[in-house]
Order: sequence, then structure tokens, then C-alpha cells
Amino acid sequence: MNKITNHMPTAELQALDAAHHMHPFTAGAELAKKGARVITQGKGVWLTDSEGNRIVDGMAGLWCVNVGYGRHELGEVAKRQMDELCYYNTFFQTTHVPAIALATKIAELAPGDLNHVFYAGSGSEANDTNIRLVRRYWDVKGQPERHIIISRKNGYHGSTMGGGSLGGMTPMHQQGGLPIPGIVHINQPYWWGEGGDMTEDEFGLARAKELEDKILELGPEKVAAFIGEPIQGAGGVIVPPATYWPEIQRICQKYGILLIADEVITGFGRTGNWFGSQTFGIRPHIMTIAKGLSSGYAPIGGSIVCDEIAETVGGAGDFNHGYTYSGHPVASAVALENLRIIEEEGIIDHVRNVAHPYLAERWKALEDHPMVGEAKLVGLMGSIALTPDKARRAKFASEAGTVGLRTRERCFANNLVMRHVGDRMIIAPPLVIKPEEIDVLIERARKSLDESYAGLKADGLFVAA
Ligand SMILES: *Cc1c(COP(=O)(O)O)cnc(C)c1O
Repeated sequence: MNKITNHMPTAELQALDAAHHMHPFTAGAELAKKGARVITQGKGVWLTDSEGNRIVDGMAGLWCVNVGYGRHELGEVAKRQMDELCYYNTFFQTTHVPAIALATKIAELAPGDLNHVFYAGSGSEANDTNIRLVRRYWDVKGQPERHIIISRKNGYHGSTMGGGSLGGMTPMHQQGGLPIPGIVHINQPYWWGEGGDMTEDEFGLARAKELEDKILELGPEKVAAFIGEPIQGAGGVIVPPATYWPEIQRICQKYGILLIADEVITGFGRTGNWFGSQTFGIRPHIMTIAKGLSSGYAPIGGSIVCDEIAETVGGAGDFNHGYTYSGHPVASAVALENLRIIEEEGIIDHVRNVAHPYLAERWKALEDHPMVGEAKLVGLMGSIALTPDKARRAKFASEAGTVGLRTRERCFANNLVMRHVGDRMIIAPPLVIKPEEIDVLIERARKSLDESYAGLKADGLFVAA
């Protein structure tokens, strides 16, 4: 077999990719025609592709490369761990040092009595764990009828059968028989798109009240848990109104319902604290973690579980659940080293005191652009609502996502990774981004917005619905 390397012509790599590699969340045939961009290297916030382009990664991969690309310490740790103990399981009365050390560190970092870690290989798997864990908890408590989990439309909790069911993504539910039974969805706290004439605060309370209404409709004795992302990521970086989370917390407490914070994106510094729950004053019983836990250097996720649930489930015989790679020693060692880097290099302070304030000012200034309705930034999670009419928060007449996709294509051409979700543009750069790199990001974003705007005007698409 011929060796396939970075040095092959791009077209050949693309042809092999099209012939043999099925991409996630992708129309395969369409991509095969266009050809996928081949990424060859990463350093800090910069990616290089097979054509030699230098790209600013405004998305930290998929919201995960928090410490930036190319940190050799992580590779060193992985190599050392592979040499020493490449794999062992944690099922049958065994454990190993990387799993112990990482769980101990996570328990130290997590707030309150979140002191126990159940490992998974990804965020999706961790949310599958959560479904089984909260139902098992209520079984042991003698309330097996408490099995329904309430989640939100346009939430994202992964792509397994469980994760995809917890998520509220209509295009996902349309394929493969989702959602599985026992999961119901309420509306999201998306004020810009759905708030109508309400103030943000009123709308936050109204959307939180939907949780109470749903609990009463189902019967509180049937509801096991509520799950939500502190900030919806894949749904379009939707920051809830300030009134929302305190009211959700109050309602869960009132009806004795478990609260799961899906921190897969918001964990490990993204919002300027270790966890998004701290930024929003949420006190969850379980946190889902993945992505930034290892900065994407190794696949690992997990559930951080409070004392009460861990002790109740642990005290009732076997919990019949686990993954071959739960607590994988190499992934655990890499994650632990990643947490050391975040902590010792003061990366969260950098987000709070340097990168966020610097980017926030420039991001907000994009609101002077004719198609930018609102530019928001929490920590290093940003969104732009594109609109043809700011005063009315109007949608475009074209099919949702048309304008977003056209804008993303301009970003792509200008060597900036900025994603679109519908007609919202989103960023989540590596947490180590420097002011001069933020300048490049903003310059490329503005250029892309200008080009997109000019194209929409020329094609008669800058029109409100
Ligand atoms: C990415 C993501 C997941 C799924 O994680 P995977 O590692 O892709 O399985 C779950 N929840 C949230 C909030 C995410 O952003």
C-alpha cells in the first residue's frame, strides 16, 4: 500500500477522502464534489492546510482545543503513559493511577459536592451515562416511575441514541428513530429569535416557567431530571437571559428534580470560570464534561456526580453500565496534564482579564455593521445574529441558514474558521488567543461580513421576511 502523507497533492488526498471517509453531519456526495479542506498542522490558534494557507481557528476545533494546538507536553505525557501502562480497564475491582489522579483533580476543581467522576470516551457517552444514572438513582430511591428527563428544543447533548434524544435538534430527530422514549423537550431561552415584544428578563422567566408547566403536566412524581447547557453551543451560542437559570434552579428544587448541567463546551475555562455553572450561579447534581477536559488531545468525557447520587447508586449493588475506555489511562493522563497547564499558566485569568475584555470590545463594535443585529460574548464564546432589519430583529426572507452559510463561505475563503448556525455566526477560539491574534480574527470577520453583505445586496437577498 502506498503511504499517504501530507506531501501528496491536495486533490489526491481529497479523492481518497471522498472514496473512503464518511464525514459526520455532512452530505457526502456534495462534499465529494467540492473536496474537503485538508488540515495538516496546528500551532496555538493557527491551522495550516495542505495548500499552505494559515487559518485562524475561531472555533478551537470543535470547541475543544482550549490550550491551543501543538503543546508538546501533552504528547510527552501520552508517550510516557503508553510506555508504562497503555491500557487497563476499571471494571473488575481494578483501577490505575491516571484514572485516580484525574478524578481527584476534577473533584477538587468542581464546585460544591460534585466529588465523583464516571468516565466516558466522549460527551455523548457521558450523557448516555447520565440518562441511566438518574433513572437508576430514582429506582434505588423507590421511585422507579420517576423516569422522564426534560430537555430543550435546539439543545445539543451529543449524537448517540441517548445524547441525540436529549438534544432538541429537529434534523437529528428526523433520522434514525429519535428521540427514545421518556425524554420531552420544552422551548429554549432564545430571546433574540423568539422573544417577541417581551423584555429579556420577562422572556427568561416565561421560558423557565415552561419547565414548571411541563412538570405539572407530566406529574412531578414522573420527572427524573432536567438537562441544559449553561449556554447553548451548537444551537448557536444562545446566552439565556439573566432571569432564566435562577428560576430553573428554583423549580428543580421545588419539585425535587435532579439538575444536569451539560458543561461539555462551557467547562474548563470557556466562560471565564472553571465551569459555566459558576458563571450563571447554577448548582447542578451532575455535570457532563468532555472537549476542553483534554483540550481535544485525547478523546475523553465523563459525568461529575454529587455525593448523594454517587452514594445512593453505589450503595445498591452493581450499576450495570460502563465503557471499555472509561478512564482510559492515556486519555486520563493527557487530561490531567491539560488541567495542569490551564491551572499553572493562569489560562482562565487570561480569559477573564485579557482575552475576553479585548475581544468583547471589538466584537461588540461589529454591531455597527449593516447586517449584524447583536454581537454577544461570554468569556470566549461569541455569537452574531445576522439580520436585514435590526430594529425588528427580523429574519431573512431566504430559507434559514442561507445567509449564514454564505457568510461562513466568505470566512472560509478569508482563512478564518467561524461557524454558522442558521443565520447566526459563532466563535469559540482557543483560550490562549493573544490580543494581536484577536485583531486578525476581527479583521477577517469584518472583511467576510463586508463581502457577504455585498454579495447578498447584489443577489437581491438582503431582504426581510
Ligand atoms: C459536543 C457536545 C456534546 C457531545 O460530545 P461528543 O464528544 O461529541 O460526543 C455534548 N454536549 C454538548 C453541550 C456538546 O457541545
